[in-house]
Amino acid sequence: MAISRILIANRGEIALRIHRAAHEIGIETVAVHSTADADAMHVRLADHAVCIGPPAASESYLNIAAIISAAEITDADAIHPGYGFLSENAQFADIVEAHDIKWIGPKPEHIRTMGDKVQAKKTAGALGLPLVPGSDGAVSDFDEMRRVAAEIGYPVLAKAAAGGGGRGMKVIPDDSQMESLVRQAMNEAKSAFGDDTMYLEKYLGDPRHIEFQIFGDGNGKAIHLGERDCSLQRRHQKVFEEAPSPVISSEERDRMGGIVADAMAQMSYRGAGTIEFLWENGEFYFIEMNTRLQVEHPVTEAITGMDLVREQIRIADGKPLSVTQDELRFSGHAIECRINAEDPFNFTPSPGKVDYYHQAGGMHVRVDSGLYGGYTIPPYYDSMIAKLIVYGRTREGCLMRLRRALEEMVIEGVNTSIPLHEELIRQPDIISGDYTIKWLENWLAERA
Ligand code: ADP
Repeated sequence: MAISRILIANRGEIALRIHRAAHEIGIETVAVHSTADADAMHVRLADHAVCIGPPAASESYLNIAAIISAAEITDADAIHPGYGFLSENAQFADIVEAHDIKWIGPKPEHIRTMGDKVQAKKTAGALGLPLVPGSDGAVSDFDEMRRVAAEIGYPVLAKAAAGGGGRGMKVIPDDSQMESLVRQAMNEAKSAFGDDTMYLEKYLGDPRHIEFQIFGDGNGKAIHLGERDCSLQRRHQKVFEEAPSPVISSEERDRMGGIVADAMAQMSYRGAGTIEFLWENGEFYFIEMNTRLQVEHPVTEAITGMDLVREQIRIADGKPLSVTQDELRFSGHAIECRINAEDPFNFTPSPGKVDYYHQAGGMHVRVDSGLYGGYTIPPYYDSMIAKLIVYGRTREGCLMRLRRALEEMVIEGVNTSIPLHEELIRQPDIISGDYTIKWLENWLAERA
């Protein structure tokens, strides 16, 4: 039976994004929401809505029993997890499938493998992806760590196997600080993820973050949809993303994309995924794989013309990929700005009532957001309230349109990161595309 009703196990802009893809192909939607999100746009638009708990995510958006009950009550035949929350929880995926509900995501075994970064790195290496030099798997012994570090050379990075969101990571400049810094990273990982397994990696001095979007049909076929450059980061969190990367040639895209797609085909990977690399001096180094849709997926949609959520639904329905690698064409340039409810320069959160909202429009301008005038942004969740995605035939044209679109966006009543983006896209390094993962923090420090 084809999917006819999708439960959206998420909130905010991504819940609305999934609702839109479903409705465009005649599939009904079920919104599940906390009491704090009763007035959310996607809840209003969905065909059915079920309140699943109080504001705390642990009691609502992470409450597996409540979400499964909501699916049963509303007769949903599929669940889309979005990103964050339960999207990379293999146990949840298992439970969904055990209830005969289609899981719009990868096979649970692949979520599990890639969710453990030590396992992920081993798997990626075995599939032929280039790795960041580092320890051969997990390390717990400090003498062993010092030996590995001496071999790969300082500085090294201690990373948590269970890590995510930039947590559980420490740069170690030399031998003398190894033990104390690794202990700090372990404590952070223990409290954030309940697991303090660590591994070591060479700390790359000044790389870019370049990731490939992939899709697999679950039966041994896979394609890549090119790369996204997400080097503009603050505290290891992405702020602004573009596709294609200003530094990757089409030959390099075909070569690396081919390697990545082959690896996914060998795994019989199913659905959407992202392979993240650091890129330095022309070389790629695998860091991790995300087994879900990413926040920044619209820039890939803009340059390929493909609806990635619709493609996810197709695959979950057991259909083949809608295009072959040869049929896929990349054209033009797209940039996404993440708009958060926070002070644009000191980043203090700014939830509250939106007194007035006007979104940018016009040719090749897309806004993914659940905001509306009179809406109150709850303080309990992620501060991202909108994504502005702009397309142009060239990177230069894209930047010109982005400047115009940012000018048009009006969000009154709360502070937002719009002024940050307006200033950023006027910087010569951003205009020329000459920036790395360190650029934004250095620029913010100088600006202060
Ligand atoms: P998380 O899952 O916590 O996001 P990642 O492994 O994806 O962790 O790394 C997040 C960011 O941390 C990268 O985009 C990069 O900025 C930085 N980083 C990770 N590994 C390294 C490394 N070996 N050298 C330098 N920077 C790194």
